[in-house]
Amino acid sequence: MTNKYMYFVANWKMYGNLSSLNTLDKVIKFSKSKEIKRGRLIYCPPNTLISSFSKKFRNCQIGIGGQNCHESKNYGAHTGFVNCHMLKNIGAHFVIIGHSENREKGESDKLINQKIKSALEAKLKVIFCIGETLNEKRKKKTYSILSKQIKTGLKNIKNKSNIFLAYEPVWAIGSGIIPKPQDLLKTVKFIKNKFKDRSTKVLYGGSVNPQNITNLREINNIDGFLIGGASQNAKKFIDIVKKTYT
Ligand code: PEP
Repeated sequence: MTNKYMYFVANWKMYGNLSSLNTLDKVIKFSKSKEIKRGRLIYCPPNTLISSFSKKFRNCQIGIGGQNCHESKNYGAHTGFVNCHMLKNIGAHFVIIGHSENREKGESDKLINQKIKSALEAKLKVIFCIGETLNEKRKKKTYSILSKQIKTGLKNIKNKSNIFLAYEPVWAIGSGIIPKPQDLLKTVKFIKNKFKDRSTKVLYGGSVNPQNITNLREINNIDGFLIGGASQNAKKFIDIVKKTYT
């Protein structure tokens, strides 16, 4: 159980359409209840739904984010992409950058750094994903990988107050497996120690569900969760939040 202010970020990935909006009513009602007094819900739907989510959440405190952005702050000939100003313009307050599903497709730490700078300039808060692969974990490279991702990803960014780190071990995403509690505690501490500002928020992501949240909530240096699969089901998402506090 925790009394801490926690963040719950729903990453819907490439799922959802206009009919999914109906499923949000339960979450909106829940967001206004006493049970979520010390926390913030943030939805990151596909770009096609950001505008509709924004209208739906008009009278509540639920945040909205994009799942990625183009690195350029300018408009231009980049077929199929959107930049951070476009996300902001349709109602986003946050953007996920550096998700492993995009790193796997070739997004480098350097490109991620450009995207983060562009997002901050557009006054979006950044959910910056980092994490090691299974192979890197087996070779005991977790800390060196995280250090490199943080160092290059945040190069020349002085003000980090609008950046949330999301530690997402690649092997935990969508696998049903979560890190051992003592390992997760140590890794989150390692990440936080990289920052002078001890108030830097670190979220955990990877197979969070209503069952394992009772173990995860005991790890007292975590500031919230990035939730993929389970967040597409309103009941599961609400259960995760409720169980974090009870
Ligand atoms: C994610 O993709 O950010 C994620 C955490 O996914 P899942 O919860 O499905 O493992």
